[in-house]
Amino acid sequence: MLGHAYDLTVTNTGIIKNLPVCIAEGRPTSYVFSREEVWKRQARIAVAHKDRYGNPIVYIDPNAFSEAPPEFQVWVIEHECNHHAKGHLSAFASMQVYAARERESDRVATQKVVEAGFTPEQLNRIYNTIKDKDFHQKHLSPMMKAALELNPAQMNAEFDKRSRYFLKCVERMKGRPAPRYFPGPPFMYGYG
Ligand SMILES: [Zn+2]
Repeated sequence: MLGHAYDLTVTNTGIIKNLPVCIAEGRPTSYVFSREEVWKRQARIAVAHKDRYGNPIVYIDPNAFSEAPPEFQVWVIEHECNHHAKGHLSAFASMQVYAARERESDRVATQKVVEAGFTPEQLNRIYNTIKDKDFHQKHLSPMMKAALELNPAQMNAEFDKRSRYFLKCVERMKGRPAPRYFPGPPFMYGYG
């Protein structure tokens, strides 16, 4: 097994007991379970944030996490950690830059779980959750809900696009080092 190993044990809440350790600029990320904080930042499921002292935080919607498989929980954490590790929060982003950062965070999170030795079944659990429209629609912030009502086709296409990109990342990474960059579709709606 390369690099990472994850503890996928869940508590009776359905949430993983030991969240992966994530160091950004030498500081460990704190995890805070709060749907309110996630929603406040127009995100869904989880969002990366820095406090006024620059300490990295990841806010997590406990309702969403408790309904998702542990493999998906780990993948989302790695996605948010990449935002911190790459300094994505420190500069203003255009929609284009935002989309590229979302795509990169998905790619890096996928690389981490592939390197950790997740089985095809485990990877499939992540894939199925990414494309699960019912799950996402249940955990949309009010702003995302409004976007969905305005353009349901576009929003649903996002879930499909994102899950296909996940599969593409897995394919690219099997048995060889992951490329630093390869093109993918822009994401309009990210995980925080
Ligand atoms: Zn993101």
